Amino acid sequence: TTRVLTGITTSGTPHLGNYAGAIRPSIQTSELPGVDAFYFMADYHALIKCDDPQRIARSRLEIAATWIAAGLDADKVTLYRQSDVPEIPELCWMLTCVTPKGLMNRAHAYKASVDQNVARQAEPDDGVNMGLFSYPILMAADILMFNARKVPVGRDQVQHLEMARDIAQRFNHLYGGGQDFFVLPEVQIDDEVATLPGLDGRKMSKSYDNTIPLFEGGAKATRAAVARIVTDSREPGQPKDAEGSHLYTLYRAFATPQESLQFRRELEQGMGWGDAKNQLCDRIELELAPMRERYAELMAKPQRIEEILQAGAAKARKISAPFMAQLRAAVGLRPAV
Ligand code: ATP
Repeated sequence: TTRVLTGITTSGTPHLGNYAGAIRPSIQTSELPGVDAFYFMADYHALIKCDDPQRIARSRLEIAATWIAAGLDADKVTLYRQSDVPEIPELCWMLTCVTPKGLMNRAHAYKASVDQNVARQAEPDDGVNMGLFSYPILMAADILMFNARKVPVGRDQVQHLEMARDIAQRFNHLYGGGQDFFVLPEVQIDDEVATLPGLDGRKMSKSYDNTIPLFEGGAKATRAAVARIVTDSREPGQPKDAEGSHLYTLYRAFATPQESLQFRRELEQGMGWGDAKNQLCDRIELELAPMRERYAELMAKPQRIEEILQAGAAKARKISAPFMAQLRAAVGLRPAV
């Protein structure tokens, strides 16, 4: 079997990008034969960029309900909350101690913040907390704790995954004594999966508040957000540049290739942006409508969600607790087992 692992940060309301980029493909993967899937709510990661406790608590419920409403079988996969597995931060510390600081200096997420600061003539590390700086190590711990072999990620995460491999190799080399504790994880990049643009044209992201919500607020909220997508000033009747339009990118994420071609032709033949937005909403609803009721039911029963997460945590800890005991012994914190 191949172990696959994906997480979603509990930093806000799940959106169309999370669904098309992570939730839908991972549910499909979980149904393949020979796949042992691990899906988690990355709540320790959320603390790096969100200091609003209510937002984090709410996001946790929304993300769990979204996974299940979208069809994830919590009995078949291991669905858990990162902070329910105390071995993860413990492993993170062990990995921190074998990670050269220079490696983290080169991490994209950190460098992007420094570059922004330099561009606006602020101190390079302005607003950078240690969580952001060393976040690739927590990500490595997430992956290595369960010895996941395949990690589906967007292109922006490829470097962080390479860092996880480096860190794993270093630990194996220092403490393995010929035995490898960690499997070296591999990225899985799905070229079919696009990065969806948000309402402001940047990547759709929970922490940018530029998202089209998936289930929250019902179909109405999804429509209202689509109505706010910025388009160019071309009038109905004028040909539109489909390739360059965010609407087309979003449409393609929900439609078959044939439907997308049709949509594109209509835009090029002068379909108005208003009509295009309606078509986009109708196409999205075709896919989401059947899941909305289940989502609402779950959100009305937070206790049920909590039970599912507790069961997931118990499954995850059956693996993490004994593995951690081995690792503690390996580094000399406990007698050999
Ligand atoms: P945050 O703002 O906290 O980083 P996010 O919404 O950008 O949140 P994450 O929780 O970091 O998303 O990512 C969860 C998963 O959703 C990842 O697999 C990521 O690749 C995917 N994802 C996030 N945003 C998009 C997007 N705009 N298009 C496609 N996939 C996305």
